[in-house]
Amino acid sequence: MPDNIFKDVFLICFITGCLIRVISLFRVRHWNRKKQDRIKNKHETWLDKMLLFLVFIGMQVLPLIYVFSSWLDFADYLLPAWPGLVGVAVFAAALWLLWKSHTDLGLNWSPTLEIKEKHSLVTHGVLRYIRHPMYAAHLLWGIAQALLLHNWIAGLAFLVSLIPLYFRRIQYEEQMLLDHFGEEYRSYMNQTDRIIPRFWG
Ligand code: SAH
Repeated sequence: MPDNIFKDVFLICFITGCLIRVISLFRVRHWNRKKQDRIKNKHETWLDKMLLFLVFIGMQVLPLIYVFSSWLDFADYLLPAWPGLVGVAVFAAALWLLWKSHTDLGLNWSPTLEIKEKHSLVTHGVLRYIRHPMYAAHLLWGIAQALLLHNWIAGLAFLVSLIPLYFRRIQYEEQMLLDHFGEEYRSYMNQTDRIIPRFWG
């Protein structure tokens, strides 16, 4: 199967993922303005901004350069067709999880770490089984990117750039939610794992 087909599939999934994100962003911004829901606590340092910028390069810039130019072709590698087919399934799962986690978190979602005045703790939907479904969706997206774009740079860039952000952000996010929701969040933590769904207990 030619690599170009996998590049096309990647592009379609990529655009779908960006649309899910943009629609959620507009919804949250519009609602916050309408309801005047102010931010109570926000965590964003220069290091966080830099790590987010690295993710932007790995998730958006390098794959698009690879799809639309031949600049990175020197780092191509050959793979049989089946990893690409697995990549399509993994990307579909990532998009479903991304959409579902946005829907379940609703107006409590924000691109940076925040606690709003009307913030409520979400423990239903997909968050009933997993504490960080959105980050799990990004991890799946990164794996799908590596399986669909057969290039050492563009294929692996998202996964590599995601790892430092993931470890730093989850720690701060959980501490922030613990400080705000206290025992309610601690008990939720006891019932769930970070990115591996817990269907029992
Ligand atoms: N870590 C989650 C959410 C990422 S978005 C996930 O992977 O799905 C980050 C924002 O979501 C943070 O500002 C935090 O305040 C909020 N958040 C995270 N978990 C939450 C929960 N269970 N209920 C309400 N808000 C939550």
